[in-house]
Amino acid sequence: MYEVSIDETFAAAHNLRNYRGKCEDLHGHNYKVRVVVEGKELDSAGLLFDFVHLKQVIKRVIGSLDHKYLNELVPFDTLNPSAENIARHIHDQASKQLQQMPNGVGISSITVWETDTSAATYRP
Ligand SMILES: [Zn+2]
Repeated sequence: MYEVSIDETFAAAHNLRNYRGKCEDLHGHNYKVRVVVEGKELDSAGLLFDFVHLKQVIKRVIGSLDHKYLNELVPFDTLNPSAENIARHIHDQASKQLQQMPNGVGISSITVWETDTSAATYRP
């Protein structure tokens, strides 16, 4: 099995509903996102998946969150903008835009860091 990954960052504000603690008040994070793609076969160029295409798609998805108040955006106007839900959202949006993936290649995980030491991972 091969894996390739890319990291991207974005800044956004949020507050968590139904939660008691620091994250219930409005605040911001410099989020880091790691997208991992896995597959068993390489293409004729020796690549699992083109980094450039993967980066373009992830940048577009993350661009819609960058410098925004997440609680005002669909689906976070109803879904809590936790790192877990953000990871799932990025996965769902990215997989819609990565339709021409070679057979057997797919996103294996999305990790979202809220701080250097706290992260949540979604595996489809
Ligand atoms: Zn927070």
